[in-house]
Amino acid sequence: MMISSQKVVTIHYVLTDETDEVLDSSQGKEPLTYLHGAGGLIPGLEKELEGKAPGDELQVSIPPSEGYGEQNPGLVQTIPISAFEGIDRVEPGMQFNTSGPDGNTMLITVTGVNGDEVTIDGNHPLAGVTLNFDVNIVEVRDATDEELQHGHAH
Ligand code: ZN
Repeated sequence: MMISSQKVVTIHYVLTDETDEVLDSSQGKEPLTYLHGAGGLIPGLEKELEGKAPGDELQVSIPPSEGYGEQNPGLVQTIPISAFEGIDRVEPGMQFNTSGPDGNTMLITVTGVNGDEVTIDGNHPLAGVTLNFDVNIVEVRDATDEELQHGHAH
């Protein structure tokens, strides 16, 4: 069975960046199962998987525009440390969920602390990164009615 919309697909994958650093991998873990065409994967990867079948292997390079987007300098801000009320120690690398301008949850990362000024970055950690995927397709099956209703694989 080939991968197309409304199929439930199981894959093993290794994700590396331009420097071959492994960012994420299903090796030694459960493979990833997702509902194809439901926005569960980044658009560039879904496009590459379309039409593939169990046993196929592919190596693809996904540009930021088809992945987590380009870095948006407008999402980098400096705010007073007093905005972090209730947090004992604000340090670079800390991440918080907050609600963005569109009301959606947005992950922000503290990228710098300078006295009582904190620099935060609302870009996705993988924005601006070219993503290299090494994928093995394990299984492809029809989605159940319930999975289609829920918009995800069970
Ligand atoms: Zn469900």
